[in-house]
Amino acid sequence: MAAMEDHIQMILFTEQQISQRVSELASQITLNFSPTNNGGALLSPSSSSAPVVVGVATGAFLFLADLVRKIKLPISVDFVRVESYGSGTVSSGKPKISCDLKIDVTGKHVILVEDIVDTGNTLSCLIGHLKSKGASSISVCTLLDKPSRRKVNFELVGEGKFYRGFECADYFVVGYGLDFAELYRNLPYVGVLKPEMYS
Ligand code: 5GP
Ligand code: MG
Ligand code: MG
Repeated sequence: MAAMEDHIQMILFTEQQISQRVSELASQITLNFSPTNNGGALLSPSSSSAPVVVGVATGAFLFLADLVRKIKLPISVDFVRVESYGSGTVSSGKPKISCDLKIDVTGKHVILVEDIVDTGNTLSCLIGHLKSKGASSISVCTLLDKPSRRKVNFELVGEGKFYRGFECADYFVVGYGLDFAELYRNLPYVGVLKPEMYS
């Protein structure tokens, strides 16, 4: 067994469960943005209305990579970087955008991709930012959601929808993009560290 795996106390979501759920989310997104879907039609056939998938770096990098390969539509991909956690396990509550988008999202449908929604501060900050840039709709697609910890309610924009992989109990989780002190992002599953790893 690899040394890193010895640091894990418990696996919450296995590689296989994540893969299955990512496929389901990608199918929903494909359907909702499909030009032939009159119920929730967001796309005209022109490529200018292709959605922009925006990953929140660094945590969303694996989720985004797996998700976009399963979305069967032309999309653009960009990243934004937000700092809120430092190297600890408690949010500072004041997220700052430290690296902005490259793509102009004016008049575009944006899908924000997050690893986890906790207090909601990061998303609320990002949605405000993208709204001020004139995005015509803002959806959120998060792998994990800890609704019990929500402090800020964010509002989606336009016909934006909320896509969520799994509801997560109130643990500090690592793996599949999520870090502790920039480590463990490369675990293929989501788990909880042994308590001694924090000291
Ligand atoms: P929020 O602003 O919603 O409180 O937190 C959002 C960010 O905090 C997430 O994108 C993630 O980077 C980090 N975060 C929140 N909960 C956890 C957790 O359980 N584990 C890890 N590794 N990061 C978390
Ligand atoms: Mg994140
Ligand atoms: Mg982090």
